[in-house]
Amino acid sequence: MNLLKKGYIAEDEIEQYPGVTHSEGLHPVIECSQNIPCNPCQDACPKHCIKIGSDITALPAVDKDVKCVGCGMCVASCSGQAIFLVNENYDEDSASVTLPYEFLPLPAKGDKGFAYDRSGTCVCEAEVIEIRSLAAFDKTNLLTIKVPKEMAMKARFYKAVSV
Ligand code: SF4
Ligand code: SF4
Repeated sequence: MNLLKKGYIAEDEIEQYPGVTHSEGLHPVIECSQNIPCNPCQDACPKHCIKIGSDITALPAVDKDVKCVGCGMCVASCSGQAIFLVNENYDEDSASVTLPYEFLPLPAKGDKGFAYDRSGTCVCEAEVIEIRSLAAFDKTNLLTIKVPKEMAMKARFYKAVSV
């Protein structure tokens, strides 16, 4: 309902989707909420972590029994930019969030900036810990940020500190 009224999914609503899990270690979080005919995320995953099945309008589900290797192909394959890779325990204090990033200039590893939530609200400081640009990603870059643990399910965009 929040998506219809305000244009983004509320934090408590996101947990109901079959693509949203809290698996240990790095795992995909698929915030795909509408029954559209679409399945490149399923085809992109070499480990078959993502299941849509024969009904192409079904929501993608994450198979918690299959280990994600963090290749990022699902993130880059989703034209809706609805897939993130999350590690809720990146280190003692931090989570990591990998997100699709299609802005220039690209941030560099070590850059500091801010993380924004689904509503576009700035929620915390963020540090760039990886940026990946591969031909297989078809011009979508994968940006990984480090944020405080409690922001693992909130931080969904990165903006550099203005200079
Ligand atoms: S990152 Fe790679 S292994 Fe993990 S779910 Fe996405 S496509 Fe599959
Ligand atoms: S590719 Fe993206 S929009 Fe399409 S089904 Fe997968 S998560 Fe949803």
